[in-house]
Amino acid sequence: MAFNLAMYPISYVTQFNPVTGGWDEQWFQADSISFAELSAMSEADRAKVYAKRNQFPLPLVNYTSQYALGCFEGMKAYPQKDGTLAIFRPDRNAKRFYDSMKGLYAPAFPQDRYLKASVEFLKRNRELGYIPEYDDAWEKDNYAGASAVYVRPFMYSEGAIGIGTSKAPYVVICATTVSSYFKGANTKAVVTDRIRATPKGTGWIKCASNYVVSMLAKKEAEDSGYMEVIFLDAVKRKYIEEGSSCNVFFRLKNGDLITPALGDTILPGITRASVIELARAEGVNVLERKISIQEVAKKCVECFVTGTAAGVTPIESITWNGKEYVFNNRKPGELGARIQAKLKGTQYGAIDDVRGWNVRV
Ligand SMILES: *Cc1c(COP(=O)(O)O)cnc(C)c1O
Repeated sequence: MAFNLAMYPISYVTQFNPVTGGWDEQWFQADSISFAELSAMSEADRAKVYAKRNQFPLPLVNYTSQYALGCFEGMKAYPQKDGTLAIFRPDRNAKRFYDSMKGLYAPAFPQDRYLKASVEFLKRNRELGYIPEYDDAWEKDNYAGASAVYVRPFMYSEGAIGIGTSKAPYVVICATTVSSYFKGANTKAVVTDRIRATPKGTGWIKCASNYVVSMLAKKEAEDSGYMEVIFLDAVKRKYIEEGSSCNVFFRLKNGDLITPALGDTILPGITRASVIELARAEGVNVLERKISIQEVAKKCVECFVTGTAAGVTPIESITWNGKEYVFNNRKPGELGARIQAKLKGTQYGAIDDVRGWNVRV
């Protein structure tokens, strides 16, 4: 059960009304098949149910479907021992989604509505049994194989064909259950020649269009036997930016932990911000600054990528200009593992949520 489109039956749909200036809300319930009933079905029948849940009458021709003018969020809710769920830092996602919509010159979805709708959305689907239950067995491998609810809010434009910006966007919230994101035998990364984001572009916005280049670069990397791709900056072609859909950290020989500083070409990851905070609390000197691929090649002893889907995933090596630079003898590094344990422990409720990151549902 990796990353697939096994959608929950109930989705949230709202549209901005430019006349009233409000958001017209509705709930779209495709069916009322409980999770237990769905699990008892044949695979073919289940596929039909899932397909139907992904059908909602949104405009076919619009700025999102034609020009990739749209943005989205990825947020997880983690099952707790007491049967509740904890959404991890949803206020941060609400804020980023608001900023993304503003960045696309669309009426931005109010943050309080985002939070309220997300909570209500999970409650409604839970009533039909769609929330994975906490499993003690997850603790054995520090939640490496644990399940969570992946919540995907996104913006979708009204019908349109010319060049313009969205004036009456939809916001949809849907979800699916997920476990680990990266699959495959190795955790090798390769530096790509492609450019994900340019200064004055949209790299800082979680927008659909950014993903096209990322997906092409990732496919090329996978076809060559790598798990992940690393992008360099567009101007100097020297400084590391991020992975295909995750931020990146480097531990140097002197113990410092470096991650590229935010700017208009780097996505401000919530996992990134959380990892910085957790590492500093461990006494690690964390620096947000430029880091060149040459410096990584010379001084890096541990590397990991971070994201809601990826968690904290170790990278065993980076290949650049045909040469492979191996970190920590290809074994997961000690610092990344320690931070991952803190992060997952907090998310699944095994460690006290001292920073108030979890919102209980
Ligand atoms: C979503 C995303 C990330 C990770 O952000 P999180 O908030 O940690 O999930 C990193 N890079 C890109 C390009 C992204 O789209």
